[in-house]
Amino acid sequence: MSQQNMSYWKYPLSELQMGAEEEAAVLQVLRSGWLSTGPTVVEFEARFASFVGAPYALAVSNCTAALHLSLLAAGIQAGDEVIVPSLSFVATANAVVHAGATPCFVDCTSLQHPLVDPNAVAQKITRKTKALIVMHYGGVSADMSRLLALAKEHQLTVIEDAAHAIGTTYHGRACGTLGDIGCFSFFANKNLPIGEGGMVVTSDETLYNAVKLRRSHGMTKSSWEKYSGHASSYDVTTLGFNFRMPELSAAIGIEQLKKLTEHNLTRQRLYRAYEAKLKNRAGILLPLSEETASELQNSCARHLMVVLLPETVSRPQIMDGLKAHGIQSSVHYPPIHQFSLYRERRAENITLPITESYSSRTLTLPLHPGLKESDVEQISDILCSLIASASV
Ligand SMILES: *Cc1c(COP(=O)(O)O)cnc(C)c1O
Repeated sequence: MSQQNMSYWKYPLSELQMGAEEEAAVLQVLRSGWLSTGPTVVEFEARFASFVGAPYALAVSNCTAALHLSLLAAGIQAGDEVIVPSLSFVATANAVVHAGATPCFVDCTSLQHPLVDPNAVAQKITRKTKALIVMHYGGVSADMSRLLALAKEHQLTVIEDAAHAIGTTYHGRACGTLGDIGCFSFFANKNLPIGEGGMVVTSDETLYNAVKLRRSHGMTKSSWEKYSGHASSYDVTTLGFNFRMPELSAAIGIEQLKKLTEHNLTRQRLYRAYEAKLKNRAGILLPLSEETASELQNSCARHLMVVLLPETVSRPQIMDGLKAHGIQSSVHYPPIHQFSLYRERRAENITLPITESYSSRTLTLPLHPGLKESDVEQISDILCSLIASASV
């Protein structure tokens, strides 16, 4: 079967790398007679747990569900406050609202290090604060030693939104295993793409059991256990959801996991190629640069190639210019606290100056294992010339 690329773009932001291994794995599941959560999911969980070095892993339908279940498992409820970065995908905050609690947005450290600022977290902690969600933006880990110390001092549960950071390590340990619970995404444009899917990892057996129960309606036995003859009845002990992962998805996940380290290395190489081309050119600022990133981590899941445009140019104009060359670009992210939903939920206005400035200037360029260094050079040259002509 040949792979047909349906992309409108010459250079899409991300591109799937599926091969004969994924095709064979999917076919095997199709012929197995069982499609919902079953032995393939269990195998994916075991492989993932061992990859990140966590005792427990639970596959779920997506990372949003992973975050939601993690908050519920940690006992987060109405009246609680959860500290979250505003510079993240909206799901990070939505999960808190789904759990009935209030997201309290914090600013980032700097334009160069657009990750949650431990000082800002310290200032936001109140009697109601029960948890902190950390997001490892772009695959670069947050300042975990300071954040974990703060969390310990104030008895906060630390949930890592590691959607960008599959394979990032921090002082030798995998992101997602540094706090109490880690959540991963396998959405179609993430480093380990399945289409839809997520994973919860933890070393805490109580949290593991609480997530597992809620993943499937609060039932004490699964449909697979009944199908395979290991159970005949069940009780429902808590209110749960259907956040299960299908077998077909897990089959793709297993094969993609085998390729992840190599793909991440390619991403790192391409990131460095971008950095070499863009550093000190056309007034571009490079956040998450190798300098700031490598101090803390041995390997990095380089999920996004982000640049900050000079304040003087119009981002929509640059994005249009890139589009005319077939280059897809995007903005990661508009600040969550400025979305209407979150503005309307708040009594007073808040400002997060670094996040707001970062979001107004940031631009994401294509980065995926299918790119070549010559593509990176071409994209970089086009970006620089667009900025130069827009600045005149
Ligand atoms: C993609 C993403 C999510 C949501 O993941 P889904 O699997 O699509 O639910 C959450 N947080 C961050 C930071 C993400 O990038």
